[in-house]
Amino acid sequence: MPMTTRRRLADTPIVPKIFFCLHCLRTSIKNFDVTNAENFAPGCVFDAVASVACKQYSSRNQICHQTSVGMLGNALEFSQILNWSQEFFVDHTAPDQNLDWDLTLRVQVGHLTLALATGFEAAELAHRREHGLTGTSKSKVTPNLVPYRSFVAGRRSIADDPTMLRLMPGDDGFLL
Ligand SMILES: [Zn+2]
Repeated sequence: MPMTTRRRLADTPIVPKIFFCLHCLRTSIKNFDVTNAENFAPGCVFDAVASVACKQYSSRNQICHQTSVGMLGNALEFSQILNWSQEFFVDHTAPDQNLDWDLTLRVQVGHLTLALATGFEAAELAHRREHGLTGTSKSKVTPNLVPYRSFVAGRRSIADDPTMLRLMPGDDGFLL
């Protein structure tokens, strides 16, 4: 009989704005229905008291992969845009508010945030491939992280914010 473990759940689950896992991002892109007139969200939730895996991936007994260090600044910008676009989906019930946006506009914003998420995921994948951080889905090869650590150190030495590195012109996945 297989042994089952129960995760002790936190009273307040954490919904990461920047350190969401890429598996949840991909799942949310795949399942996003623009006709629901909702803002896009990565859909990653860390709900356990002591676990490094998010809710979706702990149930699959897999490791979460988050945004590469070299793209954390891009993840921050992605998060900030999603936070800004959330304003189109706020239900303003106060009578003096005149900020409720109609369904057509909210669907359009949903289209745009989905396009942004799809672009972010594609850029992250291109970055991983450029630096050998990922293989094909059938590959069992563990990536050699030494060259990437060297790349990150080089970027930090020239970055305005060394904790939030961004893609630069010439990098795979870079778009203006
Ligand atoms: Zn996740």
